Amino acid sequence: MKTTIVLLGPPGAGKGTQGEKLTDEFGYTRLSTGDMLREAVRNGTELGKKAKEYMDSGALVPNDLIINLMKEKIAGIKGGVLLDGFPRTVEQADALAEQLDVDLALNFDVADEELVQRLTQRRSCPNCNAVYHLVTKKPAKDGVCDKCGAELYQRDDDKEATVRNRLEVYRKNTMPLIDYYKKKGTLVTIEGTGDINKIFEQVKKAIQ
Ligand code: ADP
Ligand code: ADP
Ligand code: ZN
Repeated sequence: MKTTIVLLGPPGAGKGTQGEKLTDEFGYTRLSTGDMLREAVRNGTELGKKAKEYMDSGALVPNDLIINLMKEKIAGIKGGVLLDGFPRTVEQADALAEQLDVDLALNFDVADEELVQRLTQRRSCPNCNAVYHLVTKKPAKDGVCDKCGAELYQRDDDKEATVRNRLEVYRKNTMPLIDYYKKKGTLVTIEGTGDINKIFEQVKKAIQ
């Protein structure tokens, strides 16, 4: 089974959703740079203060901040690891390659208009980072996390104007990673539209 997995794909492609399922079923350690950064912002740490402005506008946080953060986190991990939202630039991918061999880059392909619809209707748990959708993945009780009972919220960067900016940033900075991992022979692309559990069946095949 693959042990070092990078989740690739535009914002809203389902990286968090499928990553959560992989973690629940197979016990990977999931490292989400977005979740870490949001926690740093909530806690008002130095990192959070530096990252906030970039995140609010939908821009990428500078490479050096992210690379240092991930180096430390990755160093502490034993067993399978799932990287969600990192790397997002070629510079980050090169830094990662110095530390770890990625054995699978799972790329989720979803059309732009579906992404906008998904992100603007996404609701997130500030406590356990579970993700929901107002229509396609409703919590059992409106506005409440199924997993931990915390109150769900809409991320500031999930408003439509910021979403469109994030898609541009993705195209310019992160899409080149598809070719990057294709050249390394580790890329698997999965059609990310349709039933969440059916997509997960494809994901399970890819990690074997
Ligand atoms: P999504 O899950 O919707 O793709 P994330 O939660 O991964 O979004 O990221 C939210 C924001 O955090 C990004 O728009 C960016 O500002 C910042 N961020 C997350 N990961 C990285 C990264 N690897 N490099 C630079 N910025 C990042
Ligand atoms: P990412 O981590 O790539 O930004 P998420 O996993 O957070 O994406 O998914 C974005 C939104 O789309 C969430 O509201 C999620 O519930 C919803 N979603 C995820 N997968 C699907 C799917 N296959 N069909 C419909 N909605 C989905
Ligand atoms: Zn929760």
